Amino acid sequence: MSERIRFLLNESDLPRTWYNILADSPVAPSPVLNPQTMQPVTPDFLTVLFPMGLIEQEISQERFIDIPEEVREIYKLWRPTPLLRARRLEKELGTPAHIYYKYEGVSPSGSHKSNSAVPQAYYNKIAGTRAMTTETGAGQWGSALAMACQFYGLDLEVYMVRVSYQQKPYRRHLIETYGAKIYPSPSDQTQIGRQILAQDPDHLGSLGIAISEAVEVAASSGGKKKYGLGSVLNHVLLHQTVIGEEALKQMDMAGEYPDVVIGCVGGGSNFSGIAFPFLRENLRGGQRTRLLAVEPAAAPSLTRGVYAFDFGDSAQMTPIFKMHTLGHDFVPASIHAGGLRYHGMSPALSALYHAGLIEARAVQQIGIFEAAVQFTRTEGILPAPESAHAIRAAIDEALQAKLTGEKKVILFNLSGHGHFDLSAYNSYLTGQLEDDVLPEEQIANISARLPQVSIVA
Ligand SMILES: *Cc1c(COP(=O)(O)O)cnc(C)c1O
Repeated sequence: MSERIRFLLNESDLPRTWYNILADSPVAPSPVLNPQTMQPVTPDFLTVLFPMGLIEQEISQERFIDIPEEVREIYKLWRPTPLLRARRLEKELGTPAHIYYKYEGVSPSGSHKSNSAVPQAYYNKIAGTRAMTTETGAGQWGSALAMACQFYGLDLEVYMVRVSYQQKPYRRHLIETYGAKIYPSPSDQTQIGRQILAQDPDHLGSLGIAISEAVEVAASSGGKKKYGLGSVLNHVLLHQTVIGEEALKQMDMAGEYPDVVIGCVGGGSNFSGIAFPFLRENLRGGQRTRLLAVEPAAAPSLTRGVYAFDFGDSAQMTPIFKMHTLGHDFVPASIHAGGLRYHGMSPALSALYHAGLIEARAVQQIGIFEAAVQFTRTEGILPAPESAHAIRAAIDEALQAKLTGEKKVILFNLSGHGHFDLSAYNSYLTGQLEDDVLPEEQIANISARLPQVSIVA
């Protein structure tokens, strides 16, 4: 057995292709519907928001898609990312399990989000786009896209969920430092924002509302501005598969193969990024790795939502997707994992979960921070509260292995660092955090609030 801790790849090992799960998924993708006609969208509906390069990736059935050399050059600023074995954590837990983690917090903006921000800005740039709009929850996606847009000389405006805009000023300042404009959402910049503010001037906002604002600005710009989404869509999941492709090679260097691969899920992109290449090995290579998605108990779209057609945003402007959803009007509690508060889940990931190829688990806030602090104190890295969901599940799997004496191999994705989330850590350390389980009433009749879709899928 190797005594090594860090498994590092060379620049030349940086993947040359992204992996498209749609090529191997046994479940056919459901159609994406136009919100006005309720019929399948046509590409021209999507070209209002996205450049053709990304639309092609969104619907592609090709197994591998080349990563442009211009994108690989920028990836090299932080990729390949390290894979580490958490030996000190293993020891502290007294578990026979081996715990590995892939660390995406080494990217300049501090999370995996840069893996998709760079290609999104790139495909916009080569399509002649001059400016982009986007939303951000806790600010990770906003900072990643702000960096990428700056690299390619694109203007960017960011609509940031108001509660995070107020609670997390440092992410906001980072976004401004990268050169983007940022507005608290709901804002007075859009029709939908003004409507909501007229009813409630202190509205705290939600990702669904911020998406509506960013989409409205792009859709009404006469083609001048395009919109970028940081998760959920097929092309975003595609870009994140560099994580799992590298991890496959690194597990090989470690001489082990994971029994379980774990990631936290907001819209599903970092989990899919690490899990899909391992799912390919399950589907095509006969492996039997369990794939475990971990979500917050306060926004449990996989474990307690319904699998149905729903809008991607609150104002019903985005296309309609078949996905696990808590309803597009869902406003979650203001838990600290701001990046995991989305009402829906990636349609591709939802379908795989529905087909039983992926497992899901919901975890509560206090246990998440317990795990985060234990990880910080043993491994030294202070994780993002989002990533700590994966750590919680990894620790629970390791403790289970301790009970059974099983030498289980666990791999999880550490999607980002938590250096901008220290006030959340302070709340935990001073006993001010509460567990926040979603009351049954709030999701009792989701289906009644979903769009009426007659299409059979
Ligand atoms: C945004 C974010 C997430 C959640 O988004 P996914 O698309 O589900 O990955 C998780 N971790 C970090 C650090 C994030 O920034």
